[in-house]
This record gives sequence, C-alpha cells and structure tokens, in this order.
Amino acid sequence: MTSAERHPLFVATGTEQVPDRPALVGGRCTCGHVFFPMQTYGCEKCGRYGGHLETTPLAGRGRLIAFAQVHLHARPEPKVPFTVVAVALDDGPIIRALLNPPVDPELRHGDVMVAEIVSVPREVGTRPTLRLTRNATGGR
Ligand SMILES: [Zn+2]
Repeated sequence: MTSAERHPLFVATGTEQVPDRPALVGGRCTCGHVFFPMQTYGCEKCGRYGGHLETTPLAGRGRLIAFAQVHLHARPEPKVPFTVVAVALDDGPIIRALLNPPVDPELRHGDVMVAEIVSVPREVGTRPTLRLTRNATGGR
C-alpha cells in the first residue's frame, strides 16, 4: 500500500455490530488509535505511518453531537436548505456528513444516527454517496 492509494469512504456491507447499515472505511494504527477517513500519511496520535496504518470498518452508527442548517450555499448542489451533522461514531471517530432528509425538525442532540447510501444527481447520471439519518426505530 502506498500513501497515494485512494480508499473508498464507505462500503455497502455493514459491520458485525451494525450489519444492516453501510460501514465507513476508517483506519487503525498499531498504537490503537482509530480514525476516519483511512489515510497512510501518519497517525494523529503517535506519528507512525505507512504499514503501521491499516483499514478498519467502522459501524455506520453514532450519536449526534452537533448540527447546523445551511440556508445559503455557493454551489447549486446540494439544494438549500440542508443540514450538516457532526456524529460521534460508536467506534470512536467524529465525522461530519449531510443529513437525510435534508431538514428534520425532530432532530435533537444525542439522537442515534445511522448511515445510509443515497443516489446523488451528477452532471451525468447519479453517484452513490453516504448520508446520515436519524434512527427511525428510536434510541434517544
Ligand atoms: Zn498511532
């Protein structure tokens, strides 16, 4: 593996803990630090790099720690309003992602959030991308 190698951000297959949700492709250092996204430039905790860092699947579930609704955006996509969420994954890393649906009036700090793959329109066709959504089965 080289540092120029590109890693996917997510895979459709879930983890053992959360099998029904896509997994995020994170990284794990030999020191034990877990991070997202995967990269081999260096561990944020100990500085090891290269072969000390390997991919690890992260469960597509976490807790909402912050969110912001965007009403003015420089690009045509995504259409406003939309919501950016910060979620502390069950496996440790804190990630930022877009919320699906774009606005959820019931959203509250501490909500259980889960990953899902949605098709996003492109200039030609669509592209699968990861979004986070409030866990409809509860868990507040
Ligand atoms: Zn490390």
